[in-house]
Amino acid sequence: MKQNRILLINPWIRDFAAYDLWCKPLALLTLATWFRNAGFAVDMIDCLDRYHPKLLANRPPDWTEKQGDYYFCNKFTKKLLNPPESVAHIDRPYYQYGLPENIFFEDLRALPRPDICCISSMMTYWYPAAQHMVACIKSVYPDVPVIAGGIYPTLLYDHACKHLNADYVHSGAPDDRLVSFINDTLGGSFRFEPYDPLMEPAFDLIHNKNSLSVMTSVGCPFSCTYCASKYLHSKYRRLNYKTVFDRLQKYVEDYKTGCFAFYDDALLFEASDHIVPFLRLWLDSGLQATFHTPNGLHARFLTDELASLMYRAGFRTLRLSLETTSAQRQKSTGGKIYLDEMRRAIDTLYNAGFTSEHFALYMLIGLPDQTKDEILQDIKIVHDMGARIDLSSFSPIPKTPVWDELMKDEPLEFVEPLKYGKTVYFLQAGALSLDEMRQLRRYVSNLNKQI
Ligand code: SF4
Repeated sequence: MKQNRILLINPWIRDFAAYDLWCKPLALLTLATWFRNAGFAVDMIDCLDRYHPKLLANRPPDWTEKQGDYYFCNKFTKKLLNPPESVAHIDRPYYQYGLPENIFFEDLRALPRPDICCISSMMTYWYPAAQHMVACIKSVYPDVPVIAGGIYPTLLYDHACKHLNADYVHSGAPDDRLVSFINDTLGGSFRFEPYDPLMEPAFDLIHNKNSLSVMTSVGCPFSCTYCASKYLHSKYRRLNYKTVFDRLQKYVEDYKTGCFAFYDDALLFEASDHIVPFLRLWLDSGLQATFHTPNGLHARFLTDELASLMYRAGFRTLRLSLETTSAQRQKSTGGKIYLDEMRRAIDTLYNAGFTSEHFALYMLIGLPDQTKDEILQDIKIVHDMGARIDLSSFSPIPKTPVWDELMKDEPLEFVEPLKYGKTVYFLQAGALSLDEMRQLRRYVSNLNKQI
């Protein structure tokens, strides 16, 4: 009997800025496992794959990317585009990041014809790339159904239905609605197990495994008013720490992976039952790798023991979420951290052996009602605390209390997600102009060099 084929595609990014910070299509790779377990053959095209063999073929013969090259993070290949009309006034070049389109089309035509294509779309303001991807697939396979899922359709379902031109748009995790669509489309009665976002991703589908992104938990016990974590995962859940260890050990031994980026929302939560025993196992095993946490950590949960284990195990890029130094803002947005807790956490990290190069504090700019003076005050306080600053532009996210408040006079059907992107929204918030933002970033970069 013919085996049904699914083609999973991670689209390009279209935006004013993008950078490969251990970017791996984790959700699609987990979906690949789910489809395989139901008996499907799975292919994948990752348009954000910097290690695609045809891209590497154009590098100088002696080019290798080593862990030392900022732990395998680097710039994407990009193509200049005319920006969409709603953001054409922004004085910055707009790009499509990722694989050149000729390589994408060569891959699409070279792979066996799929029975169904699935694309994911993450940020709501990246939807033009997903829209373009659906058109590209249809130009080669007009009769192959395209399913679109991911965070964007989950947060803005009606918008995605209207703009993507996909055959089926799925919001939320894969479930019976998706299974029904697949069975109706293929005329089968496939049996899928319940989808679990913590299933092991099918990493064999990606080209380069020198560095891997991993998630040991989903969800977050906090409910910050600007974050959609609770909406996307109503309950915090995690893997057993032994399972985490077994998986990472296998990746080191089988793939020679030397670098892991944790993408958990709450990696340090209930540390004594999770990350601490994992780190003890890791240190006892003698395995070697570096660890990185691009998602902000909860500094409140850092203890002397945990910080010491993290340092000895090889954590080398830590981001701690502070966002604001205003006690009033901290309290009203969810109370995940206060200034005295962050001061203690910084001391804890230095005492454990970390240097200022190893960690930085995320600070949000462009929050509602935030003034330039407040931003400068935030920067001064964090600098005086002896920590580097990582500025992050605030971007309102649908299905959050902050979004609801900002949009209370704007019907959802008129919302243009492009106006709420990270490189666009702060201008609307009004605290800084584009030039002032550039100056501020230079100012912070100089301050960070003094730490
Ligand atoms: S602590 Fe972080 S992940 Fe959790 S709700 Fe707040 S912002 Fe989201």
